[in-house]
Amino acid sequence: MQWETVIGLEVHVQLATHSKIFSGASTAFGAEPNSQACAVDLGLPGVLPVLNEQAVAMAVQFGLAVHADIAEVSVFDRKNYFYPDLPKGYQTSQMYHPIVGPGEVEITLDDDTTKRIRIHHAHLEEDAGKSLHEDFHGMTGIDLNRAGTPLLEIVSEPDMRSAKEAAAYLKAIHSIVTYLGISDGNMAEGSMRCDVNVSVRPKGQEAFGTRAEIKNVNSFRFVERAIAFEVERQIELIEDGGKVIQETRLFDPERDETRSMRTKEEANDYRYFPCPDLLPVVLDQAYLDHLRGQLPELPADKRERFQHALGLSAYDAAVLSASRDVAEYFEEVHRVCGDAKQAANWVQGELSGALNRESLSITDSPVSAVQLGELVQRVLDDTINGKAAKQVFQALWHGEGDSADAVIEAKGLKQVTDTGAIEAMIDQVIADSPAQVAQYRDAEPEKRGKMIGYFVGQVMKASRGTANPQQVNGLLKEKLDALL
Ligand code: ADP
Ligand code: MG
Repeated sequence: MQWETVIGLEVHVQLATHSKIFSGASTAFGAEPNSQACAVDLGLPGVLPVLNEQAVAMAVQFGLAVHADIAEVSVFDRKNYFYPDLPKGYQTSQMYHPIVGPGEVEITLDDDTTKRIRIHHAHLEEDAGKSLHEDFHGMTGIDLNRAGTPLLEIVSEPDMRSAKEAAAYLKAIHSIVTYLGISDGNMAEGSMRCDVNVSVRPKGQEAFGTRAEIKNVNSFRFVERAIAFEVERQIELIEDGGKVIQETRLFDPERDETRSMRTKEEANDYRYFPCPDLLPVVLDQAYLDHLRGQLPELPADKRERFQHALGLSAYDAAVLSASRDVAEYFEEVHRVCGDAKQAANWVQGELSGALNRESLSITDSPVSAVQLGELVQRVLDDTINGKAAKQVFQALWHGEGDSADAVIEAKGLKQVTDTGAIEAMIDQVIADSPAQVAQYRDAEPEKRGKMIGYFVGQVMKASRGTANPQQVNGLLKEKLDALL
C-alpha cells in the first residue's frame, strides 16, 4: 500500500512588542522569575485589560504580507481552563472572529520549485506562564513573566504532504515575521513554537485520515524528525490492523519519538465566550492602508528581484533572500562592488564558510559588508588575483587591517601583471626544473596541457601568489613550447 502524508501546522509567534498584550509589564526575555508580571497579567480582581495597539498592528502586517483578508471586526474570547501557569483561569484569545482571515504563503522546495500553502487564519492571544520542573527538588516552580506576552497563532490548512514541505513552510513563516520585524523568530528562546498535525491516507483517497497533534516541536530539524517518526508510527499501526486515534502527542527530541499526552475524550471543554472586558477591535481602511504603506520588501519579492533583476540563479536568490540579515548584507556587498554574481559567490562561499566554522551569525561577522564589497572590487579590477583575495579575506577576518586596500598594501599582495617580471620568474623556474622540462618535452602533445600545472604552481609560489595566473599560463606555454 502507498501512503500519503497530510500535515497542517499551528505556529505561535511571539510578537516583539515592548510590553504585554493587555498590560504595561515588560516582555524582555531572561528577567528574574516573576519580576515582570503585573496585576493584569495575574488576573487580580478589579483590574481591566487594555489592548496593546502595537500587537494589533503587527498582526495586521503579517496578514497583509500573506495576502490575507483582514477582519474589519475581530473579537477576543476567553478560553477557560485550569493550570498552574494560568492564574486568571482563562486565556484571552480569538476563537470565532480572528483578526487575520484566509491567506497564503509560497514555499520553496529543494529542487527550486514552489508551492502555495493556504493559511486558514491567524489570531491574537496571550501567552501563559512557565512551569519550572528542574529548579526545585520535588516541587514545581511557576514563572509568570511570560503570562500576557502577545502571540500570533498562525493556522495553516492541511496542505503539506511531507516533512520537507512542513519545514519549508515553517522557514517561510520565520522569514516573513523576521523581515517584518514583528518577531525575533528565536526558536531556542521559544519566540516561535509549533504544533504539528499529522495524518496519513492511502494514496489516491480523498478523505483525510485521523490526525495526531504533536506539541513541543521547537526547531526546524525537530519538525522533520517528529513528522518522520509519527508517519511511520501511524502507517505501522494501520497496517497491523489498528486505528489512529485523535490525540495530542509530545515530541521527545532525546528519544526521537512522540508519546501520547491526552486523547480527544480527555480534551478540555474550554467554554469559549467573548471577553466582556475588551471591546471588539474595529479597523478602518485608512489604518490598513497606512500599515500597508509601511511594509518592507518581503522575502518572495526579494527572491524574485534577485533572480530576475540581478540575474542570480534560482538557488542563489532563494538562499540570499531567506534571511533579512543575509539579504541586507548581500545587497550592501553588491552595492559596493557592483557585481551581483561575485557578491553572491563571496557571501555564500568564503564568508558563510568562515561564519559556520565559528558558529557566528552574519550580523556578528568580523568582516563588514563594505569591507567585503571593497575586496571583491579589487578582484574585479585585477588589483589582486583570486588566491590573494582569500588571503585578504582571512586578514580582514582576523582584524589585521581595516580595509582590503590596507591589507593588500601591507602584505604586498598586489597582482604582478608586468610581463617582464613574470618572464624572469618563469625563466628561473625553467632553469631550476631540468627533469620536469625533459618530461614535458618527451610527453605526448595532448598530455602537455596537464603537465604545465607543475610549472604554473612553481611560478605562483615564486611570486608569493601575486602573479596574474592567466599571464603565467600563457607565457609559460610559449616558453616551454619554444624548447621543444
Ligand atoms: P482544532 O481547532 O481542533 O485544533 P483545526 O481544524 O483548527 O482543529 O485544525 C488544526 C490544524 O490541524 C490545522 O493546521 C489543520 O490544517 C490541521 N489538520 C486538520 N485536519 C488534519 C488532518 N486530517 N491531517 C493533518 N492535519 C490536519
Ligand atoms: Mg488547535
